[in-house]
Order: sequence, then C-alpha cells, then structure tokens
Amino acid sequence: MEWGRVERTRARCDGTGPYERLSTGRDNVLWNSRAGVFASGHVIAEAIAKFRKALERMVRTIVANYCGELRMAQAKASDHTKIDADAIAASGLSELGADFQVRRHPAARRLTLRVSRTRRAVIVTLPMQCDLVEAGSFLHRNLDWIRERLGTIPDAVPFSAGAVIPLRGEPHVLVFTGKRGADGPVSREAAEGTDYARLMVGGMDQYAPRRLTDWLFDQAQRDLEQAVLRHAGNLGLKARRITVRDQASRWGSCSTTGTLSFSWRLILSPPLILDYVAAHEVAHLAEMNHGPRFWALVRRTMPKMDEAKQWLQIYGMDLHRYGPATASRR
Ligand SMILES: [Zn+2]
Repeated sequence: MEWGRVERTRARCDGTGPYERLSTGRDNVLWNSRAGVFASGHVIAEAIAKFRKALERMVRTIVANYCGELRMAQAKASDHTKIDADAIAASGLSELGADFQVRRHPAARRLTLRVSRTRRAVIVTLPMQCDLVEAGSFLHRNLDWIRERLGTIPDAVPFSAGAVIPLRGEPHVLVFTGKRGADGPVSREAAEGTDYARLMVGGMDQYAPRRLTDWLFDQAQRDLEQAVLRHAGNLGLKARRITVRDQASRWGSCSTTGTLSFSWRLILSPPLILDYVAAHEVAHLAEMNHGPRFWALVRRTMPKMDEAKQWLQIYGMDLHRYGPATASRR
C-alpha cells in the first residue's frame, strides 16, 4: 500500500496543537497529536510512524473482510449504540476494562476503530450498511492494538473517599464526611505539615461524587468568569456568555455569537493554566483564527502564555483521569 503525504491541517482551538492528516490515498484519517506523546519534531514523527503501522493493520483487516462469531445487539440505523454488555462479557472484551461503543455514520465508508483516551472508550464507526457481526469480528482482529492503546492510558482516579485529586493544581484528599457540612456541600481544609489539603464532601456517601462534581463545575465557573472579565478588560473586549461544560476534546471554545465555553476540568489545573485558556478564548472574540495577530493579543494579556501552553501539552491529558469520564452539571 502506498502512503500519501502527511499534511498539517489548521490548528484546532483546543490548546493542544495541530491535527495531522494521514492520507493513504484511499483513507483519510485525522490524527490528533495529543493522542500520542506531546512534543514536536521527532517524537511526533515517531508517533505518526507507529500510528501508520496500526492503521495498515486495520486496513488489512478491513480488506480481509473477516467475519467472526461475536454476536451483538442489533443497532438501529444512525443510533449511537453501545454494544450489548453480555456480548462483551462473552467475547472476552470485558477484561480490557474499557467502554465499547459502536456508531453508525452515514458518511462512513469503511469500518474505523479509535481508542479515546479521554473517554477511556473503544469506538468503532461503521457505514450504515455494515452489520454488527462484522464490527465485532473487526474488534476481535484488532484486540492487540486496542490493548496496546489502552495500556498507555494512565489509571483513572474516580471521586471516592481517600482519593487524591488536584484542585487549582494542588493535591487534595477527598474526605466523605457523611454529615451535612456547615459551609455548604464541600469545604476545603488547607494542607498542614506534610499532610495534603483536604476536600470535605458532606451528605450521604453515595451522592458525594455527584455533589463534588457539581461543586467543581461551580468553582470552575467562578474562576473562569473572573479570568475572562480581567482579560476582556485588558483587551477592550466583551464576552456575551460563559459556560462550563464537559468537553473531551477542547479546553475552551469561542462561538461566533460571543459565547465562551470551557472544560470544567480546568479547575483541576494550576491557576496559570485556567487563566491562559480564558485569555486564549477571549482573544478569539477579536480574532477567530490562530494567526500572528491572535497570538499577539493573547500575549498582551497573558505574558506567560508559552509556559501555560507547554504545561497543557505535557500534563493536560492527565486531567482527564479524575472523576467521571463524562460529567454534566445537574
Ligand atoms: Zn483557539
């Protein structure tokens, strides 16, 4: 098989740098550099080479059109369907400890396989006419590749009593008190001596993770509103609305109507990082691109932007380990 050129596509606004387009002549695959090791130059090239190998294996499998024995629940057309849990257990896929999702897409021309690092999920996309049995065998044929990819994802840290999570960049031990807190659902106790700071989550234990998630959304909203206001003031701009959401692929975004959206996980990062993402999105209010004028604006209100960008490239992915894989504000 002939591999075509590797072209850089426009950088997307997620603070993680450009996507690479790998062209095989027949298949186009966008590859986000944050899925591999974060660096420029040879490390990226190495990761691309590795990814190409995996892709070649995938394409060979598709060409072989192998049909196996895994039975899965029939999916409705255009449904985003999770594979039946029993079928996964029976197939030996469950030992992988990942969420499996099968999606049908009208535009998909062939089966594709993706391991989402942020969702800790294996996602198979298939054309409308392709059946689930085929998807199952496809998964099976690529188990080694899936296992390898999953193996590079650091362990998840769910919100549970005794877990240590970062808050504004500082480690905190979670304490579920089981009692109603006097200072609201969650309160913070500063670090003492060699002990970590503590986050006291009140109320019934079973609802503590939910309560903590809500509180973190609120804290993120508060910090981001302050940061946006400050940067917008510095640059003489005005944001229409600020929302905090669960976003897997972006730290922030700016809509043409002036709404800025941010990932709640920024509250886990050091304040400098949240501040940078706020400045970045505020600058998009004036420049909807990543050109030199855009970066000049960011630098004007955020002189330490290079330090923050570097932090995000190296540690940003790690923030996805904490708490629920997908979260929403209640
Ligand atoms: Zn951007």
